[in-house]
Amino acid sequence: MSSPQNNHRNYDFDLFVIGAGSGGVRCARIAASHGARVAIAESRHWGGTCVNLGCVPKKLFVRASTFSDLFKESHGFGWSTPSVTHDWARLIEAKNHEITRLNGIYTSLLEKAGVTLFTGHARFLDPNTIQIDPSELAPHAISRTITAERIVIATGSTPTRPDFPGAEFAITSDEAFYLSQRPASVVIVGGGYIGVEFAGIFAGLGSQVDLIYRRDLPLYGFDEDLRKSLADAITLRGITQHTSTNIRHITCDSSSYVVTLDNGYTLKTACVFLATGRHPKIDKLGLENTAITTATAGRIVVDDHNQTTQKGVYAIGDVTDRINLTPVAIAEGHTLADMLFSSSSPRQWSYNTTPKAVFFSPPLASVGLTEAEAAQKGDVDIYMTHFTPLHHTLSEQKVPKTLIKLVVDHKSQKVVGAHIFGDDAPEILQSVAIAVTAELTKADFDRTIGIHPTSAEELVTLRTCTRTTRMT
Ligand code: NDP
Repeated sequence: MSSPQNNHRNYDFDLFVIGAGSGGVRCARIAASHGARVAIAESRHWGGTCVNLGCVPKKLFVRASTFSDLFKESHGFGWSTPSVTHDWARLIEAKNHEITRLNGIYTSLLEKAGVTLFTGHARFLDPNTIQIDPSELAPHAISRTITAERIVIATGSTPTRPDFPGAEFAITSDEAFYLSQRPASVVIVGGGYIGVEFAGIFAGLGSQVDLIYRRDLPLYGFDEDLRKSLADAITLRGITQHTSTNIRHITCDSSSYVVTLDNGYTLKTACVFLATGRHPKIDKLGLENTAITTATAGRIVVDDHNQTTQKGVYAIGDVTDRINLTPVAIAEGHTLADMLFSSSSPRQWSYNTTPKAVFFSPPLASVGLTEAEAAQKGDVDIYMTHFTPLHHTLSEQKVPKTLIKLVVDHKSQKVVGAHIFGDDAPEILQSVAIAVTAELTKADFDRTIGIHPTSAEELVTLRTCTRTTRMT
């Protein structure tokens, strides 16, 4: 740990951050607030993937897609809605307007914090020297060289495109946010976060959606009951699921694409969307001019303090390919800035109770261990309920049942996992994540008074153990 006063002044900056996404911006701002001389470079979008090609526009699209359900549900409450239409171009325009506003907020936050901004592509010339070249965001910029005592790589990740014949015809989430027209039909490959969320978005907006994934259920790694609830809801939303298969090739004729699956099935579609994971963005970073080590798929190897194998160079967020979520990148950036430039102890985070949410309609959210993971550590008591939320008793729509599930360690009675599928699941689960992080017990949940009438009150009224799963 060192204070800014201790940094010797032979370098242009005390800290140089490569990449102005969620993690990089937080790291730069906090370091500057501790008195460090900080610079940051961004080649593409101020605010990074989350703001421009991820969480923010996705959430706006999800919101847009859920109105179709609300229109239908309103009839059961006495409303009559004339036929409704959706204007995709207007949605894109409104979204772009908001993203531009956020880009401005990000640059202004950095400037107000005293951070020096560089627009362009940064690459290492040596472990303390960065060259900034023209990039997409600044095509006519003049190349320049900057030195810094410490450098943070916060370049994030980029969509992975599997290699198969015709893959070049497919789009990824990067392009999906800028389509000029909503495709009438979409084949989505991948049953992870992005595949599931975009399947819900396009189906809600009226496209015919086919979702292809290699497993028997979507969202591998999530709790099995949550995955089953989601699979049922995907079907109920009119999406066709092609499970335990993969795309073999895509061909193209004048008006459509033909997708052939491993199982021999063919699908004609207006758009093929690859949601097949993301990988660290390290291309043209000049890592060969440092002692930085990378692992599978280009993941930058770091220790517990985000230090790479090159002394003085750190990496945070998706480029380290650990928990690839915005709040985790922010936490890492904040902690690193504290560790490098503040004399007080860095903030501690509970990464193993990082909550997760997937914004299907309805959404789902999880914290802590799945039933299967918990059962590897000891016997677990499962408390679980499926029910129809109150407002759907009048909506006259066939809707998925809400699922609330608590995973309780049998011996200690600590709640080690919570999983919710249903309206507002992410909003509810954020608070439950505090309880799980604090290692509260089932008895603590039981002595908490509920809020009536809500779905969330089920969390504190689950009296009967559904089953005890024995250690495997
Ligand atoms: P995920 O890792 O969530 O899912 C990838 C999917 O693609 C899986 O179904 C995987 O199958 C499949 N897949 C991988 N390789 C191939 C291949 N070669 N052929 C066919 N299928 C393949 O990645 P996403 O792209 O959905 O999202 C990337 C990351 O972004 C997420 O992991 C998450 O960290 C983050 N994210 C978070 C969101 C949120 O917080 N709500 C929203 C969107 C993204 P299999 O399971 O068989 O490996």
